Amino acid sequence: MPYSPNPGCPLCKGIGFVHPWREDGVPNYRDIIPCPARSCLLESVRAYKRGELFIRKQGITGTEQTFDAFDPIPGTEKAFKYAKALVQEEAQFIWLLIYGGVGNGKTHLCNAIALEMISNGKSARMVSVADLFSDLRRSMRSHSTDDLLAELKGVFLLILDDWGVEYGSDWEQAKFDELLTSRFASALPTVLTTNKDILELPDRIRSRFEDRRLSRIAYDSAPDYRKHAQ
Ligand SMILES: [Zn+2]
Repeated sequence: MPYSPNPGCPLCKGIGFVHPWREDGVPNYRDIIPCPARSCLLESVRAYKRGELFIRKQGITGTEQTFDAFDPIPGTEKAFKYAKALVQEEAQFIWLLIYGGVGNGKTHLCNAIALEMISNGKSARMVSVADLFSDLRRSMRSHSTDDLLAELKGVFLLILDDWGVEYGSDWEQAKFDELLTSRFASALPTVLTTNKDILELPDRIRSRFEDRRLSRIAYDSAPDYRKHAQ
């Protein structure tokens, strides 16, 4: 296990778990929680969750790509604003579509959203749509499509980076649609980015992002950062 209790902990006696306290001050023996004492299990789990290895496993491609490190050049304002709003506890929406040209900071914002969610104690996964479609193809051969989809349907925040109309067979597109339908029905935060025109998105996907009760769309009109820097 990548995390551990403190063997000398006075609260849990090194076991790592304790019974939570009920409001009347009596321990609730039906439940256990990670020991919250200093240097014990809960702190260790939190440190692990902030750790590089854990972060990489969630598909985050740049751990340095935080909101603070983002350079909000002209054109990125709306995408930046919505990305930051999405991670707030009191967010007014849960689905976000960011579209615009290649290399203009969309992936940086996705990394920042995922990093912020994880540091808020929520599960988050980021996957490029091309990789997702290859994972789906592989899962079909190993009969594990349901497991793959269950994981992506259940994670609190899912970021689907770089959607392209050219990706995926009809079957893969149908599974992608099933994933989005499930997440929309469960009202789980979901981010999609693309450098295509949003009119190229299938109606069923686009219409959900156009639902103002739950979604926002940000056009990122900034040029390629690499050219901007020159
Ligand atoms: Zn303890």
